[in-house]
Amino acid sequence: MNLKSIIRKIESKYPLSLAYEWDNVGLLVGDINLDIKKILVVLEANEKVINEAIENKVDLIITHHPFIFRKMNKINTNDLKGKLIHKLIKNDISLYSMHTNFDIAFGGLNDYFMELMEFEDSKVLDITSNEVLYKLAVYVPTSHIESVKNALLKSGAGHIGNYSHCSFSSQGIGSFKPLDDTNPFIGKIGEVESVEESKIETIVNQKKLGSVISSMLSAHPYEEVAYDLYKLENKGSSVGLGRVSNLKEEVVLKELCNNIKEKLNMKHIKVVGDIDTKINKVAVVTGSGADMIKKAQRKGADVLVTGDVKYHDAQDALDMGMCVIDCGHFDTEDIFKDVIKRFLDEIEGLEVIKSDVYLNPFNII
Ligand SMILES: [Zn+2]
Repeated sequence: MNLKSIIRKIESKYPLSLAYEWDNVGLLVGDINLDIKKILVVLEANEKVINEAIENKVDLIITHHPFIFRKMNKINTNDLKGKLIHKLIKNDISLYSMHTNFDIAFGGLNDYFMELMEFEDSKVLDITSNEVLYKLAVYVPTSHIESVKNALLKSGAGHIGNYSHCSFSSQGIGSFKPLDDTNPFIGKIGEVESVEESKIETIVNQKKLGSVISSMLSAHPYEEVAYDLYKLENKGSSVGLGRVSNLKEEVVLKELCNNIKEKLNMKHIKVVGDIDTKINKVAVVTGSGADMIKKAQRKGADVLVTGDVKYHDAQDALDMGMCVIDCGHFDTEDIFKDVIKRFLDEIEGLEVIKSDVYLNPFNII
């Protein structure tokens, strides 16, 4: 499968548009026309990871942390990043990064953390955007109603909440007169034609608009397709960073810490608050989420589970009466390998391997 097709699949689930403005996500190194057979998934790429990819004859590396983040004015072998970019290109290895878009997207890192911990029915902690929705109405000769409707729905139109295949059809008579230089599917040049037509109406998420319109145009038999497209005031589902969930059963903080240690395979964990505090609602932000302590408390959470909590963040949390579990940035995000592998394994013809390079820069002794 070529890289372009793989990227299309990835970005239909994890759109780049979800990423924060300061982020740098997408294909950072590579040729979209290259054929991809083997993918290495890893939290971030360094020299060891790139050597691992070369040894394993990998065609594509997918990282969570952006491989190129700071502005680069030169790409040469005088600096480490330039050297690594050269190494990737020389070995025909492409590199794709999915960062805050993957944190925010449904089915991304935060959702996977909730799933792993068995925190159910989670909601978004900090909303970053709402889906923009469009109404699409297309006029189709009755003979082609099913094929056009299928094309629309297959390309992603017609989703409302947890319902898919949502559409409405009505019957009527369409009239038109083909002018010179046309090649009408029905009717003759210069004569007004009346045809039994159906109007199919459906809803489309802005992100799917391009693929839905092009599928509709290819499935439609007319040379000139009559369709209306208008932006809706209805808001789609909210997306954002972090998740919050009501626990099925109350736990004490100490027990919750032990569960997290077990699930993330950690020996030590840092915790702020009385370890006997009763916990009914949990907020989670994978990676660095200490700036969400207040937000989590406002949402009614008893504890925020995150990484990178500084001393003063911990002091503030304590003063606010908010519990915080600091699992470390690495340990809340190394699970990236598992969730992205699970997604890519669904695509036929790809071999996906997880990196064996240990990337946590900290040792606890
Ligand atoms: Zn991170």
